[in-house]
Amino acid sequence: MQADSSVNGGGSGMINICRPNESKSCAACCGLYNVTDASSEALIPELRRRTRLFGDVPRKVDELSGFKEFVSDTCNLKQLDPDIHVCEFIGFLDFHEQMVGCMLHPCSSGNRGVDFRGLCHYGAMACKSFYCPAWMELPERIKDVVAYVVPDWRVYGLVVTDVGFCLSITGLIELRMGREISISELNAPILKQKLLDILLLKDKLPMASDARVRRSNYYVRKRWEATSGDDLLCYALESLSFTYDENLVTLDCKDLVMSRIVEFAELANK
Ligand code: SF4
Ligand code: SF4
Repeated sequence: MQADSSVNGGGSGMINICRPNESKSCAACCGLYNVTDASSEALIPELRRRTRLFGDVPRKVDELSGFKEFVSDTCNLKQLDPDIHVCEFIGFLDFHEQMVGCMLHPCSSGNRGVDFRGLCHYGAMACKSFYCPAWMELPERIKDVVAYVVPDWRVYGLVVTDVGFCLSITGLIELRMGREISISELNAPILKQKLLDILLLKDKLPMASDARVRRSNYYVRKRWEATSGDDLLCYALESLSFTYDENLVTLDCKDLVMSRIVEFAELANK
Protein backbone atom coordinates (compact mmCIF):
# COMPACT_ATOMS: atom_id res chain seq x y z
CA MET A 1 0.00 0.00 0.00
CA GLN A 2 3.09 2.06 -0.39
CA ALA A 3 4.05 3.60 2.88
CA ASP A 4 4.91 6.89 1.26
CA SER A 5 6.09 8.13 -2.09
CA SER A 6 9.72 8.79 -1.24
CA VAL A 7 12.44 6.52 -2.50
CA ASN A 8 14.56 6.48 0.64
CA GLY A 9 12.16 5.30 3.29
CA GLY A 10 11.24 8.82 4.34
CA GLY A 11 14.69 9.57 5.77
CA SER A 12 14.66 6.52 8.04
CA GLY A 13 17.85 5.15 6.51
CA MET A 14 15.84 2.24 5.15
CA ILE A 15 15.29 1.74 1.47
CA ASN A 16 11.62 2.30 0.61
CA ILE A 17 10.90 -1.14 -0.81
CA CYS A 18 7.46 -0.02 -1.99
CA ARG A 19 9.24 2.34 -4.34
CA PRO A 20 12.99 1.76 -4.35
CA ASN A 21 13.76 3.93 -7.37
CA GLU A 22 12.02 5.70 -10.23
CA SER A 23 11.85 2.63 -12.46
CA LYS A 24 9.78 0.22 -10.39
CA SER A 25 7.40 -0.07 -7.49
CA CYS A 26 5.26 -2.61 -5.70
CA ALA A 27 1.51 -2.87 -5.12
CA ALA A 28 1.30 -6.44 -3.87
CA CYS A 29 -0.60 -5.57 -0.70
CA CYS A 30 -3.24 -3.75 -2.76
CA GLY A 31 -4.15 -7.16 -4.21
CA LEU A 32 -2.28 -6.83 -7.49
CA TYR A 33 -1.43 -10.53 -7.72
CA ASN A 34 -4.58 -11.90 -6.13
CA VAL A 35 -6.03 -12.84 -9.49
CA THR A 36 -6.28 -16.07 -11.44
CA ASP A 37 -4.15 -14.61 -14.22
CA ALA A 38 -1.28 -12.43 -13.02
CA SER A 39 0.62 -12.50 -16.32
CA SER A 40 1.81 -9.27 -17.92
CA GLU A 41 -0.65 -9.92 -20.73
CA ALA A 42 -3.52 -9.79 -18.26
CA LEU A 43 -2.33 -7.15 -15.78
CA ILE A 44 -0.97 -4.49 -18.11
CA PRO A 45 -4.10 -3.89 -20.23
CA GLU A 46 -6.30 -3.78 -17.13
CA LEU A 47 -4.03 -1.33 -15.30
CA ARG A 48 -3.72 0.77 -18.45
CA ARG A 49 -7.49 0.85 -18.94
CA ARG A 50 -8.29 1.98 -15.43
CA THR A 51 -5.43 4.51 -15.35
CA ARG A 52 -6.77 6.18 -18.48
CA LEU A 53 -10.32 6.15 -17.16
CA PHE A 54 -9.22 7.52 -13.81
CA GLY A 55 -7.51 10.48 -15.48
CA ASP A 56 -10.93 11.85 -16.46
CA VAL A 57 -12.70 11.22 -13.16
CA PRO A 58 -13.45 14.38 -11.16
CA ARG A 59 -11.93 14.11 -7.71
CA LYS A 60 -15.23 14.04 -5.91
CA VAL A 61 -16.55 11.30 -3.68
CA ASP A 62 -19.53 10.30 -5.83
CA GLU A 63 -17.52 10.19 -9.04
CA LEU A 64 -14.65 8.28 -7.44
CA SER A 65 -17.12 5.81 -5.94
CA GLY A 66 -18.71 5.45 -9.38
CA PHE A 67 -15.28 4.70 -10.84
CA LYS A 68 -14.70 2.04 -8.22
CA GLU A 69 -18.02 0.38 -9.00
CA PHE A 70 -17.44 0.57 -12.75
CA VAL A 71 -13.98 -1.00 -12.53
CA SER A 72 -15.25 -3.72 -10.26
CA ASP A 73 -18.11 -4.53 -12.66
CA THR A 74 -16.01 -4.51 -15.82
CA CYS A 75 -12.64 -5.86 -14.67
CA ASN A 76 -11.36 -8.79 -16.70
CA LEU A 77 -9.28 -10.10 -13.80
CA LYS A 78 -10.83 -12.76 -11.61
CA GLN A 79 -10.15 -12.69 -7.89
CA LEU A 80 -8.20 -15.67 -6.56
CA ASP A 81 -8.43 -15.58 -2.76
CA PRO A 82 -11.84 -14.18 -1.74
CA ASP A 83 -10.40 -12.92 1.55
CA ILE A 84 -7.90 -10.58 -0.10
CA HIS A 85 -9.34 -7.50 -1.77
CA VAL A 86 -8.18 -6.61 -5.27
CA CYS A 87 -8.25 -2.84 -5.18
CA GLU A 88 -9.87 -1.00 -8.04
CA PHE A 89 -7.55 1.98 -7.51
CA ILE A 90 -4.26 0.29 -8.43
CA GLY A 91 -2.98 1.91 -11.61
CA PHE A 92 0.10 3.15 -13.40
CA LEU A 93 1.60 6.22 -11.77
CA ASP A 94 3.76 7.36 -14.66
CA PHE A 95 3.52 7.83 -18.40
CA HIS A 96 5.97 5.01 -19.15
CA GLU A 97 4.03 2.49 -17.06
CA GLN A 98 7.03 1.62 -14.93
CA MET A 99 5.43 2.41 -11.57
CA VAL A 100 2.31 0.76 -10.21
CA GLY A 101 0.53 2.00 -7.15
CA CYS A 102 -2.32 3.87 -5.59
CA MET A 103 -4.19 6.34 -7.76
CA LEU A 104 -5.87 7.76 -4.63
CA HIS A 105 -2.54 8.67 -3.02
CA PRO A 106 -2.11 12.43 -2.47
CA CYS A 107 0.99 12.43 -4.70
CA SER A 108 -0.73 10.68 -7.60
CA SER A 109 -1.45 12.64 -10.73
CA GLY A 110 -4.47 14.94 -10.56
CA ASN A 111 -5.02 14.64 -6.80
CA ARG A 112 -3.34 17.95 -5.95
CA GLY A 113 -2.07 16.68 -2.64
CA VAL A 114 -5.47 15.46 -1.46
CA ASP A 115 -5.57 11.98 0.04
CA PHE A 116 -8.57 10.06 -1.27
CA ARG A 117 -7.61 6.69 0.23
CA GLY A 118 -10.58 6.88 2.58
CA LEU A 119 -12.53 5.47 -0.35
CA CYS A 120 -10.54 2.26 -0.24
CA HIS A 121 -12.14 -1.01 0.78
CA TYR A 122 -9.64 -1.24 3.65
CA GLY A 123 -10.10 2.34 4.82
CA ALA A 124 -7.48 5.08 4.76
CA MET A 125 -5.71 4.07 7.96
CA ALA A 126 -4.94 0.56 6.72
CA CYS A 127 -3.59 1.93 3.44
CA LYS A 128 -1.40 4.48 5.17
CA SER A 129 0.02 2.34 7.91
CA PHE A 130 0.55 -1.11 6.44
CA TYR A 131 4.11 -2.39 6.21
CA CYS A 132 4.56 -5.90 4.86
CA PRO A 133 6.98 -8.28 6.67
CA ALA A 134 9.73 -7.63 4.11
CA TRP A 135 10.12 -4.09 5.43
CA MET A 136 11.53 -5.36 8.73
CA GLU A 137 12.67 -8.87 7.93
CA LEU A 138 14.82 -8.34 4.86
CA PRO A 139 18.31 -6.94 5.50
CA GLU A 140 18.88 -3.63 3.75
CA ARG A 141 21.61 -5.11 1.54
CA ILE A 142 19.23 -7.78 0.25
CA LYS A 143 16.56 -5.16 -0.49
CA ASP A 144 19.22 -3.21 -2.39
CA VAL A 145 20.26 -6.28 -4.38
CA VAL A 146 16.68 -7.13 -5.38
CA ALA A 147 15.87 -3.55 -6.36
CA TYR A 148 19.08 -3.31 -8.37
CA VAL A 149 18.70 -6.59 -10.22
CA VAL A 150 14.97 -6.86 -10.97
CA PRO A 151 14.04 -4.49 -13.79
CA ASP A 152 10.25 -4.31 -13.75
CA TRP A 153 7.38 -3.71 -11.32
CA ARG A 154 5.63 -7.02 -11.89
CA VAL A 155 8.54 -9.29 -11.01
CA TYR A 156 9.89 -6.84 -8.43
CA GLY A 157 6.68 -6.90 -6.39
CA LEU A 158 6.55 -10.67 -6.51
CA VAL A 159 10.15 -11.12 -5.38
CA VAL A 160 10.76 -8.39 -2.81
CA THR A 161 7.68 -9.23 -0.76
CA ASP A 162 8.67 -12.89 -0.46
CA VAL A 163 10.98 -12.89 2.54
CA GLY A 164 11.46 -16.67 2.51
CA PHE A 165 12.43 -16.70 -1.15
CA CYS A 166 14.83 -13.74 -0.95
CA LEU A 167 16.56 -15.01 2.20
CA SER A 168 16.80 -18.61 1.05
CA ILE A 169 18.13 -17.79 -2.41
CA THR A 170 20.68 -15.26 -1.22
CA GLY A 171 21.55 -17.59 1.67
CA LEU A 172 22.24 -20.46 -0.71
CA ILE A 173 24.34 -18.26 -2.97
CA GLU A 174 26.38 -16.87 -0.09
CA LEU A 175 26.87 -20.31 1.40
CA ARG A 176 28.24 -21.49 -1.91
CA MET A 177 30.43 -18.41 -2.42
CA GLY A 178 31.66 -18.36 1.18
CA ARG A 179 31.00 -14.63 1.41
CA GLU A 180 28.30 -11.99 0.99
CA ILE A 181 27.05 -10.80 -2.39
CA SER A 182 28.16 -7.23 -3.04
CA ILE A 183 26.20 -4.75 -5.10
CA SER A 184 29.40 -3.60 -6.82
CA GLU A 185 30.13 -7.02 -8.33
CA LEU A 186 26.66 -6.92 -9.88
CA ASN A 187 27.85 -4.09 -12.10
CA ALA A 188 29.19 -6.89 -14.28
CA PRO A 189 26.26 -7.44 -16.69
CA ILE A 190 26.78 -11.21 -16.83
CA LEU A 191 26.58 -11.58 -13.04
CA LYS A 192 23.58 -9.29 -12.80
CA GLN A 193 21.82 -11.34 -15.47
CA LYS A 194 22.67 -14.64 -13.77
CA LEU A 195 21.23 -13.41 -10.50
CA LEU A 196 18.14 -12.13 -12.28
CA ASP A 197 17.74 -15.57 -13.86
CA ILE A 198 17.57 -17.03 -10.36
CA LEU A 199 15.09 -14.45 -9.05
CA LEU A 200 12.98 -14.94 -12.17
CA LEU A 201 12.23 -18.46 -10.98
CA LYS A 202 9.38 -16.70 -9.15
CA ASP A 203 7.82 -15.97 -12.52
CA LYS A 204 9.17 -18.42 -15.07
CA LEU A 205 9.68 -21.90 -13.74
CA PRO A 206 9.82 -24.51 -16.49
CA MET A 207 8.38 -27.30 -14.34
CA ALA A 208 5.41 -25.27 -13.09
CA SER A 209 2.13 -25.94 -14.84
CA ASP A 210 1.04 -23.29 -17.33
CA ALA A 211 -1.44 -21.75 -14.90
CA ARG A 212 -0.97 -18.01 -14.68
CA VAL A 213 -1.30 -17.89 -10.94
CA ARG A 214 1.50 -16.00 -9.18
CA ARG A 215 0.50 -15.68 -5.55
CA SER A 216 2.19 -12.96 -3.56
CA ASN A 217 3.67 -13.82 -0.20
CA TYR A 218 3.44 -10.28 1.21
CA TYR A 219 1.38 -11.20 4.29
CA VAL A 220 3.18 -14.38 5.35
CA ARG A 221 5.16 -14.10 8.56
CA LYS A 222 7.27 -17.13 9.25
CA ARG A 223 9.91 -17.80 11.85
CA TRP A 224 13.18 -17.93 9.98
CA GLU A 225 15.06 -20.92 11.27
CA ALA A 226 17.26 -22.05 8.40
CA THR A 227 20.46 -23.54 9.76
CA SER A 228 21.75 -25.48 6.77
CA GLY A 229 21.82 -25.49 2.98
CA ASP A 230 19.09 -28.14 3.01
CA ASP A 231 16.85 -25.89 5.10
CA LEU A 232 17.46 -22.98 2.74
CA LEU A 233 16.67 -25.09 -0.30
CA CYS A 234 13.52 -26.33 1.36
CA TYR A 235 12.39 -22.73 2.05
CA ALA A 236 13.10 -21.76 -1.57
CA LEU A 237 11.04 -24.65 -2.93
CA GLU A 238 8.21 -23.98 -0.49
CA SER A 239 8.16 -20.33 -1.57
CA LEU A 240 7.95 -21.37 -5.21
CA SER A 241 5.16 -23.82 -4.38
CA PHE A 242 3.20 -21.02 -2.71
CA THR A 243 3.75 -18.69 -5.66
CA TYR A 244 2.55 -21.13 -8.29
CA ASP A 245 -0.01 -22.75 -5.96
CA GLU A 246 1.26 -26.25 -6.67
CA ASN A 247 3.73 -28.65 -5.12
CA LEU A 248 7.17 -27.80 -6.45
CA VAL A 249 9.18 -29.52 -3.76
CA THR A 250 10.51 -31.91 -6.35
CA LEU A 251 13.86 -33.24 -7.48
CA ASP A 252 13.62 -31.43 -10.82
CA CYS A 253 12.98 -28.12 -9.17
CA LYS A 254 15.71 -28.65 -6.61
CA ASP A 255 18.22 -29.45 -9.38
CA LEU A 256 17.25 -26.37 -11.34
CA VAL A 257 17.53 -24.00 -8.38
CA MET A 258 20.87 -25.48 -7.32
CA SER A 259 22.33 -25.47 -10.83
CA ARG A 260 21.62 -21.75 -11.14
CA ILE A 261 22.99 -21.06 -7.68
CA VAL A 262 26.21 -22.96 -8.42
CA GLU A 263 26.60 -21.27 -11.79
CA PHE A 264 26.27 -17.82 -10.23
CA ALA A 265 28.59 -18.59 -7.31
CA GLU A 266 31.33 -20.02 -9.50
CA LEU A 267 31.18 -17.11 -11.89
CA ALA A 268 31.25 -14.58 -9.04
CA ASN A 269 34.26 -16.25 -7.40
CA LYS A 270 36.32 -16.59 -10.58
S1 SF4 B 1 3.58 -5.37 -0.25
FE1 SF4 B 1 5.15 -4.36 1.02
S2 SF4 B 1 6.62 -3.53 -0.47
FE2 SF4 B 1 4.74 -3.99 -1.59
S3 SF4 B 1 3.60 -2.04 -1.59
FE3 SF4 B 1 2.87 -3.27 0.17
S4 SF4 B 1 4.12 -2.58 1.93
FE4 SF4 B 1 5.14 -1.93 0.04
S1 SF4 C 1 -6.66 2.60 -1.99
FE1 SF4 C 1 -4.60 2.68 -2.73
S2 SF4 C 1 -3.28 2.02 -1.05
FE2 SF4 C 1 -5.39 1.40 -0.58
S3 SF4 C 1 -5.50 -0.73 -1.35
FE3 SF4 C 1 -6.23 0.65 -2.97
S4 SF4 C 1 -4.46 1.04 -4.29
FE4 SF4 C 1 -3.72 0.21 -2.32
